[in-house]
Amino acid sequence: MKAIRIHEHGGVDKLRFQDAPDPEITAPKDVIVKLEAAALNHIDIWVRMGATGMEIPMPHILGADGAGVVVDVGSEVKSLRAGDKVCLYSFTGCGECEFCLSDRDFMCIRVKALGERLDGTYAERVKVAPENCFPIPPYMTFDEAAAFPLVFLTVWRMLVTNARLQPGETLLIVGVGGGVAGAALQVGARIGARVIVTSGSDEKIERALALGAAHGINHRQKDYAKEVQQWTDGRGVDVVVDSVAGEVWQKSLASLGHGGRLVTCGATAGWQPNDDLNAIISKSLKIYGSTLGSREDFRQLLGFLNATQIHPVIDSKFSLNQAADAQRRMEEARQFGKIILQNSI
Ligand SMILES: [Zn+2]
Repeated sequence: MKAIRIHEHGGVDKLRFQDAPDPEITAPKDVIVKLEAAALNHIDIWVRMGATGMEIPMPHILGADGAGVVVDVGSEVKSLRAGDKVCLYSFTGCGECEFCLSDRDFMCIRVKALGERLDGTYAERVKVAPENCFPIPPYMTFDEAAAFPLVFLTVWRMLVTNARLQPGETLLIVGVGGGVAGAALQVGARIGARVIVTSGSDEKIERALALGAAHGINHRQKDYAKEVQQWTDGRGVDVVVDSVAGEVWQKSLASLGHGGRLVTCGATAGWQPNDDLNAIISKSLKIYGSTLGSREDFRQLLGFLNATQIHPVIDSKFSLNQAADAQRRMEEARQFGKIILQNSI
């Protein structure tokens, strides 16, 4: 099969489009999926650069997100057969620890993820476990089914499992450019929350308003904590999603009302923010660190997507052999939505 492989860590020039061995059924629970599309995530770039601190067998196929059609299954696979259209849950734990035994493989210290310790989805085929295959929502294309899993799973766990966002609440999303923030906007709006977004770009705010945001604040021009307090008549918001941290962290805390919940899921402006314990204590705030999600989160998410028919936002499509161009676009932060690699073009 054709695949994008790295033989050593480094820049986009290390991505090689080449022949790789077809994955084969070697265990009774193996499933082979013929991939129609893969989607890029920042983790792909960190793995390529060797920034994860993880020992990765070389040559290695990148890619955590993908969707396609089952073409072969091992003798003990009961839930799938050739022809099934599937999207993928990326994480396989050790199967023995307290996290794996409670359906939280993604927290397992020995977890293996597609494109990290396992060969990933920048390829024509991939080998996966049956419990990591989920039916594609029938209203989605293969591109969309490759685009949503990692970001929407992350968002579902942040907003629903952790922060328990309710209809009628107010949600503030700090920095709406990235994939997770965009998905949080779509999910939050469909749950029935009023969503406020901030961005340094008027263009991104316009796009967020078109996707269902109730209010946008350009944080280069205005102090968003003050603007949020004004917009909510001094009450503050119920939930903040902050993937920026750094010097804006205190503003996120200041934007919350009493009993508010803050979900931190990244720190693009710095990992050691100036905290405000007074705000946390006096307003009885809850702070959740959140990343990725469980199979149960994924199952709930699929039900929600089928009910709401949300379409993940796709920025651009490249053919598999253009993976370097695709990753360059992501590294330069030019995208709004997901970047797709297709096998059919
Ligand atoms: Zn485990």
